[in-house]
Amino acid sequence: MARHGGRGWYGRVIAAAVGVTAVAAVTSVWSAQAGQSGGGATAPGVSARPATPKATPVSPSIVHASDGGAHAVNITIDDGPDPVWTPQVLELLRDNGVKATFCMVGPQAQAHPDLVRQVVAAGHRLCDHTVSHDTGMDHESESYQARQILDAERQITEASGGVRPMYYRAPGGAFTPYSRKLAASHGMRPLGWNVDSKDFERPGSEAIIATVQGELSNGPTILFHDAGGDRSQTVAALRTLLPWLKEQGYSFGFPVR
Ligand SMILES: [Zn+2]
Repeated sequence: MARHGGRGWYGRVIAAAVGVTAVAAVTSVWSAQAGQSGGGATAPGVSARPATPKATPVSPSIVHASDGGAHAVNITIDDGPDPVWTPQVLELLRDNGVKATFCMVGPQAQAHPDLVRQVVAAGHRLCDHTVSHDTGMDHESESYQARQILDAERQITEASGGVRPMYYRAPGGAFTPYSRKLAASHGMRPLGWNVDSKDFERPGSEAIIATVQGELSNGPTILFHDAGGDRSQTVAALRTLLPWLKEQGYSFGFPVR
């Protein structure tokens, strides 16, 4: 979530994903999502969709708190899914009995629907992390912001088979009052973070571990990444941190909606 620039790797994914957009499943299992948060995320330019219930609006304020209570943390994993790193993260979460929140980039989700479905099937939650991860989107027009958010919402929901993202995290924290309200009106709570593990910068797994341990008093929501480059340090850090957090008496929750 740091303001890492460079659209190079996203650009490649977008180019790869464009070809499948037209055949994206209009026949998504919309009924399957009824118990989660409803549908209704009709993006601009998308027509002839099945009638879906409107998403229940949530608060537009940026949430950091955990629904797990005072001694819980929220593990949040950004920028994926990625075919190399997401499965490794999922395995660690499973082995430690931890549920997390995955903030996905729309075209990444579109390119790897199998991973999106694995995330959902394991009991984790989805978060909309926009289409092109533009950390300067807070300086762009409202229509641009809307496309970034709503197109990604549609891409993630189609990839998941109808399970909608429950949160919206702006790339680099580039929220605006408009984008927060728009996401919230679609049932996606704006999601911040308290502890940036700085894993994106690849400082070494020991440094990532030390950063998280040293900054946990900032609050419960911890930021990691499972895409955007070699994430072996993130995987190694989580292998130590998840058991350590449990030893310290922390439980694991989801961000409050
Ligand atoms: Zn990000």
